[in-house]
Order: sequence, then C-alpha cells, then structure tokens
Amino acid sequence: MSKPKAQIWYLDFDIYRLVVWLNKKIWTEIFHEEKLKGDVRFDEPMTEYTSFRIGGPAEVMFFPEDLSDLRSVLRGAKRNNIQLFILGLGTNLLVKDGGIPGVTVNLKNLNKIEIVGSQGANPPLPPFTLAPLRGAGFTKGGGGGIIYAEAGVPLPMLLSFAARNGLEGLEFTAGIPGALGGAIIMNAGTKDGEMKDVVDTVTLMDSDGEIKTAKRDDISFGYRRSGIEGMIVVNANLKLRKGDPEVIKEGIKDHIKERKNREPSGLPNAGSVFKNPESVPAGKILEELGFKGFRVGDAEVSRVHANFIVNRGKAKASDVISIINAIKEKVLKERKIVLEPEIRIVGINGN
Ligand SMILES: Cc1cc2nc3c(=O)[nH]c(=O)nc-3n(C[C@H](O)[C@H](O)[C@H](O)COP(=O)(O)OP(=O)(O)OC[C@H]3O[C@@H](n4cnc5c(N)ncnc54)[C@H](O)[C@@H]3O)c2cc1C
Repeated sequence: MSKPKAQIWYLDFDIYRLVVWLNKKIWTEIFHEEKLKGDVRFDEPMTEYTSFRIGGPAEVMFFPEDLSDLRSVLRGAKRNNIQLFILGLGTNLLVKDGGIPGVTVNLKNLNKIEIVGSQGANPPLPPFTLAPLRGAGFTKGGGGGIIYAEAGVPLPMLLSFAARNGLEGLEFTAGIPGALGGAIIMNAGTKDGEMKDVVDTVTLMDSDGEIKTAKRDDISFGYRRSGIEGMIVVNANLKLRKGDPEVIKEGIKDHIKERKNREPSGLPNAGSVFKNPESVPAGKILEELGFKGFRVGDAEVSRVHANFIVNRGKAKASDVISIINAIKEKVLKERKIVLEPEIRIVGINGN
C-alpha cells in the first residue's frame, strides 16, 4: 500500500524539477535579451532575508546593479508576465511558507549616499532620464543640507552619515532597521517623527522602467503608509537641518536607550505587528486581553511588548498568521475594534 504514495512523491518531485528548470530557462533568456549585470539566485530561502527569519523560498531573486539593470528586469518580467516583488531589508515582512513566486528584486546594491548641497539653490528638474537624480528639484530655503541616498541604503547607515556631517532630523529612525526605500513606502517613524518630515523629493520607477520625480507634497503620506502603489522608490533627497554632530549623536543614543527598555531584543521579529487604533495603542489592548506569551508553534506574542510577535526558533508563517487571526477576532469581540496589520504579509501558503 505504500507504493502509490512513493509514486506521487516522485511525480511531485519531477513537476517541481520541471518548474525550476523552466524558470532557469526563462531567466537565462531574459538575462541574455536584457543584458542583465546583477546576480541572480534561484529558490533563495526568505528566512535569510527577513528580520522574522520566516518564509518559504523566493522562486527567483535578482540583485540589480544599477537603475538600468532594474529597468531591464522590470521589462523582462513584464514581457514574460512574471510577478514581481520588491524587497528592502525585509524588516516589515511576513513571507508565507510557500515562498514568493516570480521574481523578487533585492535592492541592496542601490546603496549610494552623498551630500548634494545646501538648501540655498533650487536646481530645475532634469528631463526623464535613467541617471540617478542627485539633488534634483529640492526645495529652497532652510539653511541645512540635502542628502541624496539610494533605496537600498540601510537607515542606520543613513543616520550615522547624517550625524557625521552635522545634519539633524533623522534621529527618530534610530533603531528602525529597514532600508530607505521600504521606510519611504511605509512612512516609517515613531512619535518623534516620520519619513514624510525629512523627504524632499523621491525618484520612482514604474513597471515600464520609466522614471518620475515626486515632491513630498505629491505623495499621500499617512500613518505607516505612503500611497505609493505599483512604483519602486529608487532614491530620494532628504532635507535636513544643520546641527552639532555631538548633540545629534547624544540624541541617537537616547532614542536607542528608550527603545531597549520597551522592545524585545534577541529574538527575530518584524517590529509592531498591528497599527495603533486612534483611541489606544494596540500593545496596550493586547496586554489587557492577556496575549503576552500567547504561543502557536514557535511564534509567540512577546512578553516584553504585546504588539510584537517573536520567532522562538522554527516558527512558520502559518503560526504567526494563526496568532494574528486569534488576536483580531478577540479584539473585535471584546473591544469592537478592527485591528489592521502593520507588517506586510506576502507570498503563497505552504503545504
Ligand atoms: C526591531 C524592529 C523595530 C522596528 N521599529 C519600527 C518603528 O519604530 N517604526 C516603524 O515605522 N517601523 C519599524 N519597524 C518596521 C520596519 O523596520 C520599517 O517598516 C522599515 O521601514 C521597513 O523597511 P524594509 O527595507 O525592511 O522594507 P521591507 O520589509 O523589505 O518591505 C516593506 C514593504 O515595502 C515594499 N518596498 C520595500 N522597498 C521598496 C522600494 N524601494 N520601492 C517600493 N516598494 C518597496 C516591500 O515590497 C514591502 O511591501 C521595525 C522593525 C523591527 C524588526
């Protein structure tokens, strides 16, 4: 009776190998046609690319070297009808156990950062171009400085660069582990500030590879949202105030110290799981409803802060989702509040 089972397993395995082979063939063709320069990897475990250390594999992961490489991969994916996912540093993500189909574009190589000027000048926007728009169109006045940074620059690097150059305004990002692009998409921040407070212009690429520059006021920033849909943030100019490097460094230390007291450390997580409802912080509601320590598999509601779920070892996305659903259900029943996840849940279910 065990034989048919083994045959089904072999059949599954062969279909899987066929799909992998077809993918490799399609991507080899795209690489050839589009002359892609960046690295490509198949079946890349998303556990390695997310702060949660959870998630099935990315079917294909591509690391564009520059904007023309990014544009080429977008065009290749569009022409072949391949689904696309943009990955920053994976610190606000729950990737499902079946992984991410299509191509995951990892922006880590878009990592240039420089000071492009003080706020005295106001250069005109250049025509559509694939060249990075360093300092393009930034707003006049203020007497500080403009930092140009690409989407893959990690926030901690951006923050220390600004501090070293005596530019203040980014201190609220201390302890936020994402990259600039993800931070703009999420309008990341704390009670002390949000990305919308420092963004001056953002360069976006659409699915055809066309570049557009948006001024801060053109973007519908809100609480942990930017309204940027279907476009990739490729770089931005950030408008900062002049400050004393030593004072800025002290400010950063204070922010980090404050975080250490209220957030879990040492166990993988993805930051706050739910957005705060208007009336009361999500963590307070969850603590009052007794969720601290609530566990499914290796996923557990943090005992330090109830709005964090931590991975105690081999948690699956399905474990985290079970906790999220249990929380949403109880909060709706007991408090008549619909909680909205802040983390983004992506990918397909596992078996
Ligand atoms: C310990 C910890 C503490 C945290 N504290 C905070 C906090 O205080 N405040 C806060 O706001 N967040 C916090 N976060 C969440 C997270 O760090 C931020 O949301 C961060 O901005 C996400 O950036 P990322 O590069 O990791 O994005 P990812 O997680 O990789 O992606 C997030 C979303 O943005 C999209 N995306 C990423 N880059 C781009 C791009 N260039 N163009 C278009 N789409 C893109 C992705 O497709 C995805 O939908 C915390 C997370 C952790 C783990």
